[in-house]
Amino acid sequence: MKTTVEKLTLDEQKNKEIIKAAATLIQEGSLVAFPTETVYGLGANALNPEASRKIYEAKGRPSDNPLIVHISSMEDLGRIARHIPPKARQLAARFWPGPLTMIFEKSEAVPLETTGGLQTVAVRMPSHPAALSLIREAGGFIAAPSANTSGRPSPTTAGHVAEDLDGRIPLILDGGPVGIGIESTIVDFSEEPPLVLRPGYITPAMMQDVIGAVEMDPALGQESADMRPKAPGMKYRHYAPKAELILVEGSPQRVQAKINSLAREALDKGMGVGIIGTEETRGCYQEGVFQSIGTRQEEESIARHLYGILREFDKLEVDVIYSESFSSPGLGQAIMNRMLKAAGHCVIEA
Ligand code: AMP
Ligand code: MG
Repeated sequence: MKTTVEKLTLDEQKNKEIIKAAATLIQEGSLVAFPTETVYGLGANALNPEASRKIYEAKGRPSDNPLIVHISSMEDLGRIARHIPPKARQLAARFWPGPLTMIFEKSEAVPLETTGGLQTVAVRMPSHPAALSLIREAGGFIAAPSANTSGRPSPTTAGHVAEDLDGRIPLILDGGPVGIGIESTIVDFSEEPPLVLRPGYITPAMMQDVIGAVEMDPALGQESADMRPKAPGMKYRHYAPKAELILVEGSPQRVQAKINSLAREALDKGMGVGIIGTEETRGCYQEGVFQSIGTRQEEESIARHLYGILREFDKLEVDVIYSESFSSPGLGQAIMNRMLKAAGHCVIEA
């Protein structure tokens, strides 16, 4: 299959035509990759079981890993979800459109192919204007996981999508680099208090300000057979770079010293070494290939560059990557969640 890449530009009329053609493909049951504010999504008509099946096939995604259904208006929520609690409406009023996914009991309209066999459905209203137009034009319901091959870092540019899916899908909409760079926060409303199944840009503190108590899935960050995360996708090793990734925790000085000594040892063994640091530590590492992930002054910059840097290191073909850690209470929680998965939970205390 030939994959076409269409660039979205500032020309409103041209964009309209591109999005209309993309929406027609979705209505016909085909797949279209498109930008959202979090990461690029691989979209299909969420109400068409055949179309959803194509997503699993193109990504190589395990069939028990449900898809998030993207909507463009509050009215449409009632068509796919049952028993929408007032707290969910309050969060929607505050954070939609935006990087928040909520889980509800599903209606008859949603096929089990879309929900990975579950009786619940995950729903999000993205804020990216092109995503919203595409959803509206395509009939209102687009199932879209991240547009990467399963197990690879999520795509934050159209180029990343092409790296993984070229030849497997008919169309990629190129809206430039995304704004946030990590996937949405997921909250489950079939529990009380509501349960965060995946941390993201919208933090528990931000939600608590609106609806009071919110809890974290106790299985998050644990790796054991009896602690199963409630979001099926969270149990898979994700975002994995080809090289071994090792996170180093501790005070900034100790982390730098530890990474320098680990890098020296690995180089002595003839290994290719990568180092992930920040603008603050540029120049602090003597060995290996250094990449700055962003600045600690602005955590958003770290989230935005995370997946791109992991992909960059795949191209540089290093054998091991040592990274600083980012476990602050705010956005750092979501960043660390993704990094721990990429590292297969390999953490060293400095
Ligand atoms: P992705 O779209 O690739 O970011 O993956 C979607 C995430 O949402 C996966 O971790 C899924 O397991 C999770 N998810 C989607 N639907 C549900 C659901 N009904 N219940 C629990 N988790 C869900
Ligand atoms: Mg994904």
